[in-house]
Amino acid sequence: MTSSSVLGFPRIGPQREVKKALEAYWSDKINVDELLKVSKEQRLHTYEIIKSQGIDYIPTGTFTLYDHVLDFSNTFNIIPEAYAKSGLNPLDTFFAMARGHQKNGVDLPATEMKKWFDSNYHYLVPELHEAVDFKLNDTKPVDDFVEAKEAGYKGRPVLVGPITLLWLGKVAKEAKNPNLDPVSLVSKLAPVYVELLKKLHAAGAEWVQIDEPILCLDVAEKYASEFKSTYEQFAKEVPQIKTLLTTYFGRLDSNLNFVKDLPVSGLHVDLDRAPQQVDDVVAALKSSDKVISLGLVSGRNIWKTDLTARLEVAKKVAAAVGAERVQVATSSSLLHTPYTIKNENKLSPEVLDWFSFATEKCAEVATLANAVNSGSSPALEANAKSIKARRDYEKNSNPAVRNRVSGRKPEDSKRKSPFSVRKQAQEERLKLPLFPTTTIGSFPQTKEIRTQRARFNKKEISQEEYEKFIEKEIQHVVKLQEDLDLDVLVHGEPERNDMVQYFGEQLEGFAFTQNAWVQSFGSRYVRPPIIVGDVSRPHPMTIRWSKFAQAQTKRVMKGMLTGPCTIMAWSFPRADISREEQMYQLAFALRDEVVDLENAGIVAIQVDEPAIREGLPLRHADWDTYLTAAVESYRIATSGVTDACSIQSHYCYSDFNDIIEHVWACDSDVISVENSKSDAKLLKVFVGSKPSDAGCNFIGPGIFDIHSPRVPTAEEQYQKLSKIVEAIGKDKVWVNPDCGLKTRQESEVKSQLANLVNAAKRARKEL
Ligand code: GLN
Ligand code: ZN
Repeated sequence: MTSSSVLGFPRIGPQREVKKALEAYWSDKINVDELLKVSKEQRLHTYEIIKSQGIDYIPTGTFTLYDHVLDFSNTFNIIPEAYAKSGLNPLDTFFAMARGHQKNGVDLPATEMKKWFDSNYHYLVPELHEAVDFKLNDTKPVDDFVEAKEAGYKGRPVLVGPITLLWLGKVAKEAKNPNLDPVSLVSKLAPVYVELLKKLHAAGAEWVQIDEPILCLDVAEKYASEFKSTYEQFAKEVPQIKTLLTTYFGRLDSNLNFVKDLPVSGLHVDLDRAPQQVDDVVAALKSSDKVISLGLVSGRNIWKTDLTARLEVAKKVAAAVGAERVQVATSSSLLHTPYTIKNENKLSPEVLDWFSFATEKCAEVATLANAVNSGSSPALEANAKSIKARRDYEKNSNPAVRNRVSGRKPEDSKRKSPFSVRKQAQEERLKLPLFPTTTIGSFPQTKEIRTQRARFNKKEISQEEYEKFIEKEIQHVVKLQEDLDLDVLVHGEPERNDMVQYFGEQLEGFAFTQNAWVQSFGSRYVRPPIIVGDVSRPHPMTIRWSKFAQAQTKRVMKGMLTGPCTIMAWSFPRADISREEQMYQLAFALRDEVVDLENAGIVAIQVDEPAIREGLPLRHADWDTYLTAAVESYRIATSGVTDACSIQSHYCYSDFNDIIEHVWACDSDVISVENSKSDAKLLKVFVGSKPSDAGCNFIGPGIFDIHSPRVPTAEEQYQKLSKIVEAIGKDKVWVNPDCGLKTRQESEVKSQLANLVNAAKRARKEL
């Protein structure tokens, strides 16, 4: 019999229960018992959903109060000393690493966050050094399993694999060898995994899912021997437990050569992202007795699965290796999908019928497994009908848009003059001091803003009332920035629910959900728009607010847009045409907006592309296609303006080592990057690598962390700034925070920015 499983599930709860409880706990509105009660309820509820959809193996341990990588850092005692010695209780220590802590004399910044592979989920980076005392600091994986078992569920504990966990880490300041490869610590960490596996077995676990997504990266090849020794140790020391080695988000390629011989009981492969690998995987494993887990239902998109097509694959594998060795599964954890389509009641039935969220995907997995066993299923017919209806819609959605993209000309992606010429025109027009100060766009999205938006959406207040309210907010932040004496102002983005959703809602070709929340980090969730058809701009999107904002001040007001690559990356893209094609469609829509902004009197326009790096394909071989389209579409979007218009871009990471030439190729006039938590040496990549004809002469590396309520002093910010100036040169630096301020409180922002402005003023005198 073919079995079924899912690799992980969203943690938010059907009505955002967990998010709400976390935020209430952090603001001292509920106590720890209440938080833990909600968490437990939601874990059990998740198990019930998965089981009731007909799934055999239920993942346990994937629930977390912040991040699953941080969970494992915590479990294995990878806790930087300052946090370990903070005197906080274990849960608050965990939260301090996650989000910083500044209370009762404890002052700790958050640890670094990074994107989880090519997704928009952020994990907290483990800090590693030679003396980390790996040991079981808690037994969360066991506790979660036992909890599920006691409630009557057949759980399969999920662990982040040791090589992946270490590889995701960074070298801590305490390290003796700054060039330490964290993966080299695996021989010290593996025994603790062994201990954990033993405990899981003793608690009754039959299988354990061990996630090693790095096996879908080129880099895994160099760790073949670490994989071998680690997994041999597991097999030797805990032979009683069956291990399912899970790989996802891509293809194994040549890594299969060593993966096939690892002594694990089963191998999971992603056949959604990489369907072409199935034959190689089957050929490699056929003569073994390993279970093959087929990731046939996407954990990364929201589309209903084409069950007929995927069933063929499952049947083929079952015929080759025997049905009992086949497991049907989601391609990855369902973490990246929303909870259920049942929470949507505004989409038309035809549109809703295209989608399948986490809950429904569980049912798809079960349907496929059953169909392998029984040969057919009534659900398949209905599925085939919806798939056909969707394909018909997609194919015919907007021919004019497709023609504009296919007819694009080289001059569409070229500014009128090179940067050296533009620079002068911009100096005359913008008239900025040395070390211009600015922010990245958003100001705190206060409760009041969210309330008014919700009331407007529910039609409790009129459009006029809502717009008056937004105007007041804009006036408020403009005044605030003038009082702080910032040089280049922003309107604060109060009218935006989200930097992507806001644009998606105004563009044609998108569909929206009410409750399709997907985790970004911690308690932060986004509701990505869904690209359902060809994309066009039926009307201007931001002109009204940018114009209004500019009218409130004599200072430069930046226009604020989200770039084509990022809109695509943070939406659920179509699956019927390429990502590149979708970026070009977005690029032309944005181009019209950029031109309209300049015509409306805006002299600086920031087009955010924070997702350019995270959207990179996992395999180097695929980079070129993606980067070429990302750069071209950014240039198409921004090249319609005159030389005097300062085109700026913002990226969330400064770790551009391997793609710096593409950053230059975007030909922006100013770029800002997140930097406050990274090492200034990352910025070195900006020096010397710049081709003489490239733009981007100005760089604004962030000097304070916007993810934390902590207020760095002017001195601290000045020190950061000095390091930056040292790295990239005094006349090239803009001064700004890491990113937008929307998650902060106004009181925090005021102090943070006042200190930033002071640091810049001091730099003008002293540097
Ligand atoms: N302009 C956006 C903001 O300030 C940029 C956000 C981002 O880069 N993620 O919120
Ligand atoms: Zn950012």
